[in-house]
Amino acid sequence: MPDTSFMNNVPDPLTSGKELPPFSFALEKSEGKVIGASYGKEATVEQLPISKGIAGVSMRIEPGAMRELHWHATAGEWAFVLEGRVRTTVIQPDGHSETNDFQAGDVWFFPRGHPHMLECLGTEPCHFILIFDNGYFSEFGTFSITDWLGHTPKPLLAKNLGIPQSALEGLPKDEVYFARGALPPQEVSTPLQGWSIPPLTHKYRLMAQPPRRTFKGGREWRVDSTNFPISTTVTGVVLDLEPGGLRELHWHPTADEWQYLIEGKVSVTMFGSHGRYRTETLNQGDVAYIPQGYGHSIENIADKPSRILIGLNTGTYAAIDLSQWIAGNPVDVLATNFNKPAALFESVPKGDVFIASAGPGKAHA
Ligand code: MN
Ligand code: MN
Repeated sequence: MPDTSFMNNVPDPLTSGKELPPFSFALEKSEGKVIGASYGKEATVEQLPISKGIAGVSMRIEPGAMRELHWHATAGEWAFVLEGRVRTTVIQPDGHSETNDFQAGDVWFFPRGHPHMLECLGTEPCHFILIFDNGYFSEFGTFSITDWLGHTPKPLLAKNLGIPQSALEGLPKDEVYFARGALPPQEVSTPLQGWSIPPLTHKYRLMAQPPRRTFKGGREWRVDSTNFPISTTVTGVVLDLEPGGLRELHWHPTADEWQYLIEGKVSVTMFGSHGRYRTETLNQGDVAYIPQGYGHSIENIADKPSRILIGLNTGTYAAIDLSQWIAGNPVDVLATNFNKPAALFESVPKGDVFIASAGPGKAHA
């Protein structure tokens, strides 16, 4: 077999030009796939070419509707519920199955290839954001049960399920995607095989936790495999920024970053070396993407708090913040590097700022 390992080091033409490419997309303004009052709007490399490492979907499901049984051949699925209630089932290769009910602020994670369904609970619609650890996931990557069985010869299927062919007449011939029926029962129903609960849960109540860190300029919730062990390929973050609050300049050495603006208005900057620097504004429902290792910051430019959902394609969060980087160096090194008097560096933060607050000189207040 030819050795292709060198290809990982070949510059990506998309990010090696003179200018950085656009890195945001108005997800909620896009049309997406609509069935009845349910929709799925997606941001993959098709809509946002830079986003090769992560794709995202905004999905709304109406009462009585279900995102049918399916799996993703090429991506794990991480989700954050914005509104309403959702019930999921997920099956593991060892036969364990788990059913969970979710509400706003809850998170799920389904490893790559593990089949699942999502249904709206109750009489209000639900809305959630899905994050996939592969920007190409959508292209031939989602496998639905009706699509498969609708294209399998009836004799084969009858033999497989041990039922007469006649019982299979009238099965959907093509992918249903959103199935619609009666409202699901309030209580979770027992699977055909009985209960067989997996050792690791697929549910994490992110916003039911206190923030991990609180600052004058905002606060942060974070979930990765250290507190949600099944989530080995996605880290989720919710950042609240006060007006003027700034998630400081930083980069992620091991992951790409995908952003969805839940509320407010933010200015996102990106640095791509060789003097390449780009700023984009996100309005509510817009998404953005920062490639692994690229410098970036997020600043609330609204006159009210902003909330941003962030997904990283790693199970272990890692970041280098500018203030931390500088604080890890001695004054003489910094003075020489910037050709400035040593005294200047006596007054910069001596540790990680993470979120700075509005106004000059208040960064570490
Ligand atoms: Mn899915
Ligand atoms: Mn970041």
